[in-house]
Amino acid sequence: MLNSNLIQRDLSVLWHPCTQMKDHETLPLIPIRSGKGVWLEDFEGKRYIDAISSWWVNLFGHANPRINAAVRKQLDTLEHVILAGFTHEPIVTLSERLVALTPDNLTRCFYADNGSSAVEVALKMSFHYWRNQGKPQKTKFISLQDSYHGETLGALAVGDVALYKETYAPLLMEVITAPSPAGCYAEKGESYEAYARRQFEAMEALLEKHADDVSAVIVEPLVQCAGGMRMYHPVYLELLCNACDRYHVHLIADEIAVGFGRTGTMFACEQANISADFLCLSKGLTAGYLPLSVVLTTEDVYQAFYDDYTTLKAFLHSHSYTGNPLACSVALATLDIFEEDNVIEKNHHLAQVMADATRTLRDHPHVGEVRQQGMILAIEMVNAAKKPYPWQERRGLKVYQYALEKGALLRPLGNIIYFMPPYVITPDQIYQLADIAQAGIESATVHA
Ligand SMILES: *Cc1c(COP(=O)(O)O)cnc(C)c1O
Repeated sequence: MLNSNLIQRDLSVLWHPCTQMKDHETLPLIPIRSGKGVWLEDFEGKRYIDAISSWWVNLFGHANPRINAAVRKQLDTLEHVILAGFTHEPIVTLSERLVALTPDNLTRCFYADNGSSAVEVALKMSFHYWRNQGKPQKTKFISLQDSYHGETLGALAVGDVALYKETYAPLLMEVITAPSPAGCYAEKGESYEAYARRQFEAMEALLEKHADDVSAVIVEPLVQCAGGMRMYHPVYLELLCNACDRYHVHLIADEIAVGFGRTGTMFACEQANISADFLCLSKGLTAGYLPLSVVLTTEDVYQAFYDDYTTLKAFLHSHSYTGNPLACSVALATLDIFEEDNVIEKNHHLAQVMADATRTLRDHPHVGEVRQQGMILAIEMVNAAKKPYPWQERRGLKVYQYALEKGALLRPLGNIIYFMPPYVITPDQIYQLADIAQAGIESATVHA
């Protein structure tokens, strides 16, 4: 009863993100009253395991007592202050800690308040750097097939997910798209590594051809998340980082989704042992609590903007809530938990459980591939001929509905069902999710 009352009120005033609102004529909205750990609870007491960390942001569960305490403390001290001309303790400490955690070449933190904005910052900063260096013709960007970097116009332009992008194509800057290095496209019997090496040849050719007018290459290191949880071998990043140096093109690592332990290491770039010129972080940065993002960059980039005001070399970009102290206090509490609880190491065990729990799905007639990178596991549904279902059939949606009924939030990406859970999930809960996913896939593919 309480659920339906709120649904009615919602549907008369709200317009939800990434949603065809007409869907809600048949697909009920789920009002959530409270969250605790991996659980979300609705107004009728029904509980759902948050297997996708509420859009990949939650790291340590809902209503985490340590993070709650940090926010409360900050709330009584300073809720917000303008970051131009002013500063505050949480942001200075956070910046020191981020610089210490990331590769040595990254020494400067520029803040924004969501992932797309961080991408916009990195793109503008890269272009502006070359302009300040007397190379204003470097105006282009290279990105990867299937990439996703956010929804604002600049971020959308460097992305390559047709469903989100195509409609707005007339509004977007042109970008150069390099073919995917993702192993899911490899020939039968070809390893992820061999495929990544082979695909890099096309990237190298683009860099060689466009070096004079390309400002930066932007990539999602190791896992292209929104594009379908497509994973690639770290050797691609190693080759790319090298080539970017050789051709004098920046490398932007968008770790907005993969940062903070998602891929098995604190940052995905660590697995290729590379350091980019720009590192974009958001999502896990505040463990699912508050919007915040940061772009880390090098002293070289910073120095290229350092001059008298009148030269127009300064980076005059801003957002009202830049560097919000409450969000910074959450980020600090998040980093504390990583340190104190040895999270990255403990996650190795959970990742192994995820692999074990989904083992029977690997040979399932309606599964094309089960792929995993650390705490991200994706299951690609296929038809009886092992081909992808047409997206209009919305097979993934059927699994989503099935899972909701069984008490799990498994929002798919097209035909791809994935687990990207909070790190406080237990092995039992992982097995529970795997059972729900398997039964859901079976029910969604009966009329294959
Ligand atoms: C989510 C995401 C973004 C955009 O972040 P928002 O906070 O949703 O604007 C950018 N890049 C990647 C890789 C993402 O997954």
